[in-house]
Amino acid sequence: MTIETPKSVRELSLFEDARKRLDKALKYVSMSEDALRRLKYPKASLSVSIPVRMDNGSLKIFQGYRVRYDDTRGPGKGGVRYHPNVSIDEVQSLAFWMTFKCALLNLPFGGAKGGITLNPKELSRQELERLSRGYIDAIADFIGPNVDILAPDVYTNATIMGWMMDQYSIIKRQVSPAVVTGKPLMMGGSQGRNSATAMGAFYAINTILHKFEQIPRQTTVAIQGFGNVGAILAELLAQVGYKVVAVSDSQGGLYAQQGLDIPSIRQYKHENRGMKAVYCKDTVCDIVEHKIISNKELLALDVDILIPAALENQITAANAPDIKAKYIFEVANGPITSAADEILEGQGIRVFPDILINAGGVTVSYFEWVQNRSGLYWTEAEVNQRLEQKMVEETEQTWCIAQNTGTSMRTAAYIHALNRLGEALDAKGTRDYYVNNQW
Ligand code: NAD
Repeated sequence: MTIETPKSVRELSLFEDARKRLDKALKYVSMSEDALRRLKYPKASLSVSIPVRMDNGSLKIFQGYRVRYDDTRGPGKGGVRYHPNVSIDEVQSLAFWMTFKCALLNLPFGGAKGGITLNPKELSRQELERLSRGYIDAIADFIGPNVDILAPDVYTNATIMGWMMDQYSIIKRQVSPAVVTGKPLMMGGSQGRNSATAMGAFYAINTILHKFEQIPRQTTVAIQGFGNVGAILAELLAQVGYKVVAVSDSQGGLYAQQGLDIPSIRQYKHENRGMKAVYCKDTVCDIVEHKIISNKELLALDVDILIPAALENQITAANAPDIKAKYIFEVANGPITSAADEILEGQGIRVFPDILINAGGVTVSYFEWVQNRSGLYWTEAEVNQRLEQKMVEETEQTWCIAQNTGTSMRTAAYIHALNRLGEALDAKGTRDYYVNNQW
């Protein structure tokens, strides 16, 4: 069954690439043509301009977006990204991935995403607050606790989520914590949300590596992106014995064959905003022997596990032949292009997809939304126990589908999500149902 791609999205390259993954899974899914046709189009896209009074008195206009891709299984759910490369193409692709991620984890949400095109490092805190509140002013009628729920993404954090929730509450004249997740704890945030994506990835990675009898102490790891997710995941892996030999951020990376002391690097980065391979004791940090490497070199290291945890399109057809890792766990959204996927598969490298590996964040966002709506708050241990249960269950189910269909884990994850989405879409009626007109 083939459905022509709608003209309005034909030129959207990242989106087109994202959709290719879907086409592979369709062979194994019995969903109606109607449901498939629906999934080719985003449900609604909003593009807004946000005027912000800058500290020097000038007025600057920023471009912002919110896309709700599908809400058949529940309100839209997705983060807000602040980055110079944010475009409608990127936001739409991220909303598409969220749709499948939420279905894969069996969360009662559809997929959405938002973003503003800017370099947040160039704005003062006051300017960032005015911009964040201005974004909510512009999209307030498009979101809501039962419509579309926001969360943090690249270069947005709990403080920004707090401003957004506060602004929405001012506009609606009622305290509305459930419109945004990833808020500060004191504003209705959930215990464990900050570490949730890393924690979820950690549970999924352990579940999968156990099947390959890969022993943590004998496993080397390289992580691209030492931000909220990458740094916490590096620490979780190191704690149970994995040897994290390389990490990087947008400025470049560090490599030490004997393994890096991750807590010390986190402490140093927090205090100095830069990265050094250090060993810190109290307030004193000593630099240890290490190599400075570029992000390109990090990706090509001869390690057991490679974890892209920065941005999309990091492994393409151009550098895929250089990859030597045995396993790649996608923590970033869309770090591998579909062309690179084919090359990696040909090299025998096993890739574990973003919509499964990084789904811990949206899962605990769901827990936060549930807590906000019920008014009953859980302990961190309760949150992590429920997160582990969900991540292990869906990882195991995806693994079984991959084994039974002989497909990659990526295709299996899409099959699993498509089955749930197809069922929900078809429950509203299919062509067969209406044509046959029989009870
Ligand atoms: P973050 O902003 O905290 O960290 C991003 C990190 O990547 C930073 O260390 C930055 O310096 C680094 N980086 C940027 N460009 C780079 C480059 N070219 N090479 C190497 N490093 C680079 O963001 P985050 O919240 O950690 O998110 C990272 C990825 O995980 C994103 O793709 C995001 O969509 C995805 N993700 C995040 C969450 C979440 O809960 N935060 C949930 C699901 C998926």
